[in-house]
Amino acid sequence: MLKFEHVTKIYKDGKRAVDDLNLEFKSGQFIVFIGPSGCGKTTTMKMINRLIEPTEGAIYINGKNIKETDPVKLRREIGYVIQQIGLFPHMTIQQNISLVPRLLKWPEEKRRERAKELLKLVDMPEEFLDRYPYGLSGGQQQRIGVLRALAADQPLILMDEPFGALDPITRDSLQDELKKLQQRLGKTIVFVTHDMDEAIKLADQIVIMREGKLVQTGTPDEILREPANEFVETFIGKERLLQARPNIQTVEQIMNPNAVTVTIDKTLSEAIQIMKEKRVDSLLVVDRRKVLLGYINVEIIDQNRKKPVHVKDVLETNLIAVEKDTLVRDTVRKILKRGIKY
Ligand code: ADP
Ligand code: MG
Repeated sequence: MLKFEHVTKIYKDGKRAVDDLNLEFKSGQFIVFIGPSGCGKTTTMKMINRLIEPTEGAIYINGKNIKETDPVKLRREIGYVIQQIGLFPHMTIQQNISLVPRLLKWPEEKRRERAKELLKLVDMPEEFLDRYPYGLSGGQQQRIGVLRALAADQPLILMDEPFGALDPITRDSLQDELKKLQQRLGKTIVFVTHDMDEAIKLADQIVIMREGKLVQTGTPDEILREPANEFVETFIGKERLLQARPNIQTVEQIMNPNAVTVTIDKTLSEAIQIMKEKRVDSLLVVDRRKVLLGYINVEIIDQNRKKPVHVKDVLETNLIAVEKDTLVRDTVRKILKRGIKY
């Protein structure tokens, strides 16, 4: 449905705001782009509706290069909500909601019906339609902003930090509402945030960016379970990592504080070297934040033998039936896939 192919944006001053983005999403997904301020999220969004043209690469919607669609037409086909643009104060709520339907020349009757329908979806009273924005609270106005993006029933909606300025309670309820609406209406939503809680709550797919580059993409669960690197781990935060892996403890918490550990970015031969030096036949595998991920021992490494073997034997008789360059990370992954308890 939405595809990025080598998408790069270099601004006139030479700033590489987005750097070789390659991504593909199915329709009907809630896609959340997340990353620190300045990492290129807004630039990416604006390239989707051609408010910004990529310097290199191409974006496809339903298989069609968006370059072939007139920008004005494209923008009518894609909903867009941003944090800053509030409602137009001189227009009623009905008129605000119906902006795009009017551009699309929907008849008055149909626009009114659609606006009513939308208010109903979020349990707001119909009489709001004839009020002006100042007659609504900030949270209600933002809710209308969301409805406005849904009004023309476009299949794709872009939302750039739409809830950034809201108080936490309003924000939380709008997140719930948006998620429900998205599932009910089957929309594809591309949503930008710098808040990991928001991303985890809303996303089917999370895209993590840093300095214009893609760092990791996956479901919230995949990202929580296997953060690609320290940046992602830090971004997620230790608390959330531990919550996501309730049966996993930190090394400090386990019974034996003297247990020997190896980090997941080491190779198996390095792991074996550690076993040899420390004269142990098992290691605890930890990530760089010392969160315990698994347990590796000679039995697991030596897949050809049924009985436990000693490191010494393994090393001396060279029984190890694995590539020594394999990363501990990959071994742990395999072990977890096979469902071995540790
Ligand atoms: P985000 O939305 O993730 O905060 P942006 O996409 O707005 O990031 O910006 C990405 C980078 O590009 C930033 O370093 C920003 O300063 C820079 N940038 C954004 N717009 C322009 C512009 N019009 N000209 C030059 N640099 C820009
Ligand atoms: Mg931005």
